[in-house]
Amino acid sequence: AVKILGIHKSFAEVKALDGIDLTIEDGENFAILGPSGSGKSTLLHIIAGLEDPDEGTVEFNGVAQNGIPPHKRDAAIVFQHFALYPHLSSLENITLGLRHGLGLNKQVAHARANDVADRMQVKHLLDRKPKEMSGGQRQRIALARALARQSGIVLLDEPLSGLDAQLHAVLRLEIASILRSVGATGINVTHDQLDAMAMADRIAVINLGQIEQLGTPDELYAVPQTLFVASFIGSPP
Ligand code: ATP
Ligand code: MG
Repeated sequence: AVKILGIHKSFAEVKALDGIDLTIEDGENFAILGPSGSGKSTLLHIIAGLEDPDEGTVEFNGVAQNGIPPHKRDAAIVFQHFALYPHLSSLENITLGLRHGLGLNKQVAHARANDVADRMQVKHLLDRKPKEMSGGQRQRIALARALARQSGIVLLDEPLSGLDAQLHAVLRLEIASILRSVGATGINVTHDQLDAMAMADRIAVINLGQIEQLGTPDELYAVPQTLFVASFIGSPP
């Protein structure tokens, strides 16, 4: 399980996270849902080890992650804006971290990249650079890069933003099903309640750095506990 305990984080005078407690079970597809600026990316970055909290701890399977660098954590992240290296091909983008982060040799890294590209149906894109691909194709490569690490935990920051409606709907289901098929714990960050409802087993609604409510999509929809949740999820309180 991923256990988040008493996380606080401020940037200068901005309190980005104001006491987050959360336990996400192994294999769960979890969504963090909230408006822009609510602290979603900050929380993912802290789970990944890209940022340190001011207070609080993150545990993976009972092991505190404080001080463990990102590449040594059992978590892979898909960034909000893809963050593919523009001068590298898809294959190189996928294998770079496998070779230099995980220390796999070239052959093993390439085998993994091919395997995951096959599953994501992007084999034909492996030789292309980001600028030679559409937004949806780039997003699949970014997802393939994260899955190729074979981490137990996959962190996705707005994986569907900026896609057209059709691709959006297709990828939404695909991501959930791929995470299930590899048995990974998925933590999806989104500001879109329909995405959260469609993808997640449970949702934490976050506002101003605090969790407003935690529950299954049905629970949040049927029994919103605050006005904020009611208005954000879209059913009357
Ligand atoms: P969005 O949906 O727009 O991506 P978010 O929920 O991911 O928003 P965060 O990026 O976590 O929000 O930001 C939370 C708050 O912290 C915001 O007020 C933001 O301006 C602030 N913040 C985040 N990162 C930094 C930083 N590196 N320096 C200063 N302020 C920051
Ligand atoms: Mg964000």
